[in-house]
Amino acid sequence: MSFNSSEFKRQFPLFSHPENRELVYLDNAATTQRPAAVIAAISDFYSRYNANTHRSSHRLARTATAMVEAVRERAATFLNARSSAEIVFTRGATEALNLLANSIASGLQPGDEIVLSAAEHHANLVPWQMVAARHQLRLLFIPDVNGQPQLQSLEQVLSPRTRVVALSAASNALGFRVEVQSLRARLPAACLLLVDASQLLAHQPVDVQALGCDFLVGSAHKFYGPTGIGLLYGRSAALAALPPWQGGGEMITRVGLYDSDYAAPPHRFEAGTSALAAIAGLGACLAWLQAQDRQAMAVYEAHLNRYLHAELQALTQVMPLKLLTRPEHNVGITALVPAPGSSLAAVDIGHWLDEQDIAVRVGHHCAQPLMDKVGQAGSVRISLAAYNDRADIDRLLGALRQLPLSTPATRAAGLAGAGFGDDLGGIGLHELSQQGSWQKRYRQLTRWAALLSAKPEIRLPQNLVQGCESEVWLTHHCSGERHRFAIDSDARVIQGLSVLLLLLIDNKTSAEIGALDFDQIFAELGLEKYLSPSRSNGFRALLHQALQHVQG
Ligand code: PMP
Repeated sequence: MSFNSSEFKRQFPLFSHPENRELVYLDNAATTQRPAAVIAAISDFYSRYNANTHRSSHRLARTATAMVEAVRERAATFLNARSSAEIVFTRGATEALNLLANSIASGLQPGDEIVLSAAEHHANLVPWQMVAARHQLRLLFIPDVNGQPQLQSLEQVLSPRTRVVALSAASNALGFRVEVQSLRARLPAACLLLVDASQLLAHQPVDVQALGCDFLVGSAHKFYGPTGIGLLYGRSAALAALPPWQGGGEMITRVGLYDSDYAAPPHRFEAGTSALAAIAGLGACLAWLQAQDRQAMAVYEAHLNRYLHAELQALTQVMPLKLLTRPEHNVGITALVPAPGSSLAAVDIGHWLDEQDIAVRVGHHCAQPLMDKVGQAGSVRISLAAYNDRADIDRLLGALRQLPLSTPATRAAGLAGAGFGDDLGGIGLHELSQQGSWQKRYRQLTRWAALLSAKPEIRLPQNLVQGCESEVWLTHHCSGERHRFAIDSDARVIQGLSVLLLLLIDNKTSAEIGALDFDQIFAELGLEKYLSPSRSNGFRALLHQALQHVQG
């Protein structure tokens, strides 16, 4: 067998939808798209045999129950578990990790130790922080270089009190793999090994027995399956030793007024009604994945990732960009940041790509400690799946080459003495309205961005506009009847839009501001999308906050 990416892509209806003809989807680490087989299985569940499982004994309930248990079997085969009783369905990796942290911690003693890495997704960090506070446990972190755990130094953090080592097999922010298969032999027999395989399962077959782990977690939506369903593998003896986490229906054998007896694993850990349609979709996804040549798929993805990295590396020679990742031992994740001293912010790059229907993700990617380690507040993450191809990457590269760089590296200093506001006297709305295309309007906004002075003095928590993807600070005071505003932001598109906002509302009276119809003005300027609620670029929140000041 071999791998043909365009045939593979044809199985994903989203890409042939008229709305998505131009889409380049490079946000696969957040979630992958679903093949038709998965969508059909979900629809089939609802249209043919929707019923709650075990609770009823009619035909549909039996069919639904049989489906759930068949998918459990399939999942056991997928992960090479010894039995389907080792597979627990959860809502996702996050719920699986919360379940494990809570259930494991309830059997630990104060002073017991949990070993993690600084590269963990918040889902494999925050639950441990919560249970550590509740049970007086100690969290220790494997020594790292730039956030990458150095497994050869593991012994430095192991002690007779180590009860759990919980690690991601691949970083969701920087893509590097962690060789978790080498660990079991180095851990004390009583220490549990937990692997977060969320970023691995789409990219290679995973064998829990070969890994030697006690627990492994993943979310179906990251490997072409539905949202709302995750897999928790637990070695049977390890699962049997755990108390349940959530209580409710389905997880008991007997309930009295004051106590209950719990079912055996896996049902002990599945309180309440499961995401049945999602399980049906997961079953189809596993069957579909098993029919792929996963070896060839992995080789294809590795080639593509090398191409992407090589081309981006070349681009960094001519554009103010810096690459944080390397293609070796990487699951297909690239992180790009503006070069030091550049006028760009990561969100500017994300906005620019989004304008061209290229989907990437900007932010700390729920891995804030790792981003701190590499000295970045956030990055532009480009994450690959097997339906991506060189044409996608070439579109990305073309868009990056066109990034508007007109803004001077240093913005104007705040107006001396005034300490407030910006001098926008020389410009007018017509400069924007006369631009004929979105690219030209975007460039005009980025030219205006240079007029918004840097105002470190207003960058205070109380001035931060809540609900923004990018950081924006706003202050307001009244000068007689007139409202005065000062705005600052790291993102150029928001700086440009802020200049526009200031032109509209700064130094105006309440009556003048009240007479403005922002929707209409933005529609006339061709900028209406910046006001759309679905576009969480922060501008809408900024406008809302400014108007609240006006209303007092
Ligand atoms: N761990 C890792 C490594 C992840 O990448 C993610 C999702 N980004 C999670 C855990 C949490 O997955 P979910 O949001 O599906 O629960």
